[in-house]
Amino acid sequence: MSSTEQNVKKAADLLRQGATMLSDACPQCGMPLFRLKNGDVLCPTHGKIYLVKSDEEEEAIKKNVTMDKVEDILVNNLYYLSSKVKEDPMDQDSLMQVIRYLDAIERIRRVKVTSQGGK
Ligand SMILES: [Zn+2]
Repeated sequence: MSSTEQNVKKAADLLRQGATMLSDACPQCGMPLFRLKNGDVLCPTHGKIYLVKSDEEEEAIKKNVTMDKVEDILVNNLYYLSSKVKEDPMDQDSLMQVIRYLDAIERIRRVKVTSQGGK
């Protein structure tokens, strides 16, 4: 039996055990990878594989880091504005800005939630 046939047999065994075939291929041999029920990713030839994060995931992480920074800035400004409102409760401009900042923070949290929920 050739090594290719052996790999096909192993792949079939994995599927029979309830593993799912992934769209990713083994970086070393190009065989399709399989995800076991316990979450491990296997190459039929090389055994357990640690997948590098996909570009998409990396992008989502970068995006969330940016959003976190923006949120920090917004929260800091909000804090500064709220101290102004405290000094002068009738300061309508500062009050309006507080409301705008709260709105912006709420929006940014919504964007973060949707990007984390994908996949
Ligand atoms: Zn492999």
